[in-house]
Amino acid sequence: MHERLILVVYTVVNRPMNDWRRIVVHADMDAFYASVEQLDDPSLRGKPVLIGPNSYRGVVLTASYEARPYGVGSAMPVAEARRRCPDAIMVSPRIGRYQEISRQIMQIFTDFSPSVEALSLDEAFLEMSGSMHIFGSPERIGRKIKDAVLNATGLNISVGISGTKYVAKVASAHEKPNGLTVVPQSSAEAWLAPMPVSRLWGVGVKTAPRLHAIGLTTIGEVAAADLRFLVHHLGSQGAHFHALAQARDPRKVNRIKGARSLGSDRTLHKDISAREEIEIHLRRSAERIARRLRARDYMARGVRIRLKTNRFVLLSRQQQLSKPTDTADDFHVVARQLLDHLIGQGPFRLVGMAVFDLSWRHDPLQLDLFADGTIRKLETTMDKLAARFGRDVVIRARDLGRSGTVSGPGVNLDFLDEREGERVTRPER
Ligand SMILES: [Mg+2]
Repeated sequence: MHERLILVVYTVVNRPMNDWRRIVVHADMDAFYASVEQLDDPSLRGKPVLIGPNSYRGVVLTASYEARPYGVGSAMPVAEARRRCPDAIMVSPRIGRYQEISRQIMQIFTDFSPSVEALSLDEAFLEMSGSMHIFGSPERIGRKIKDAVLNATGLNISVGISGTKYVAKVASAHEKPNGLTVVPQSSAEAWLAPMPVSRLWGVGVKTAPRLHAIGLTTIGEVAAADLRFLVHHLGSQGAHFHALAQARDPRKVNRIKGARSLGSDRTLHKDISAREEIEIHLRRSAERIARRLRARDYMARGVRIRLKTNRFVLLSRQQQLSKPTDTADDFHVVARQLLDHLIGQGPFRLVGMAVFDLSWRHDPLQLDLFADGTIRKLETTMDKLAARFGRDVVIRARDLGRSGTVSGPGVNLDFLDEREGERVTRPER
């Protein structure tokens, strides 16, 4: 009875606003590290500031808006950035301080929504569907979030609001800094249309030229292209781009659940010991895992295989990869190497694979670019953040221990539910 009543209220509120059946907010601090330094040290305000290692090695983590007209940006080698902008003031990162402010921001987000998906210290998705009766129109929601962050931290945040994660993310960057961009679902496709294809999630320096080569330079052209044409030239990625270009993105805002790996096990009808047979099962697991990672824009940096013998002995072997990946091929290659160590101990009644050390593909921090040990420091402080705030912050999975067990917190992956024999593995600490 109570539930039905609530449902009716939602329907009435939403009826004139069909555009806002779904409200997704993407909120992202402006030049976060640099803005914090300018806040704390007034002598840095209005000046080009680069956050990065105080040496010519390594990369810039953040450039203040005053430095950006010089063509300086995050992930640029420090030497190059200093050449382009010799007057820039170099400031070493104070991760602990950024973490402190991150905590305040995430707390504010959770005041607005029970469903917050943090993507990094300064950026998150908020699921706000059905909350207009509490906070008002999407514009008002955005304004309130911006005011709350400014009041609490003294810093500006840019907010994008739309009916999908993808468009909300593009919108938050649209009028940076200090932007607020609201794109109703009904006009999202038209709004995206004139933008370059590089704004599509997943289109990087490799894919953009491939799209250009088949005559597609704007998102609108991708949206209008024939699906078969796109799939022919780009495979499953083509379908993905087609959907995004048409502002279709069903992905949910995922709260942090602490899942650290995604696995797929197969209990077999009959015991097997032939290598070719085992490899077929591993291949299927790899494909299923890779598909689900890609569906959520996650990548993995570790592969583990599990085999159970006909005497119920569970064997496992795992390896880290040199870089994150989301392709079945990569996982399968590693799995086959791992199989070398276990193949002689069959026959087996269960064959399984899991991937771990998960990270979000579009992580703007590009943590792998930290070249000077900052990465270690950042990860450990992020670990502390997780220990304290658990599910409301995203944490990059820590490296594997030498013992071969997975340790440390992971990212939010609550889409990894039990389905098709898949399972979420939560290794003990
Ligand atoms: Mg940011």
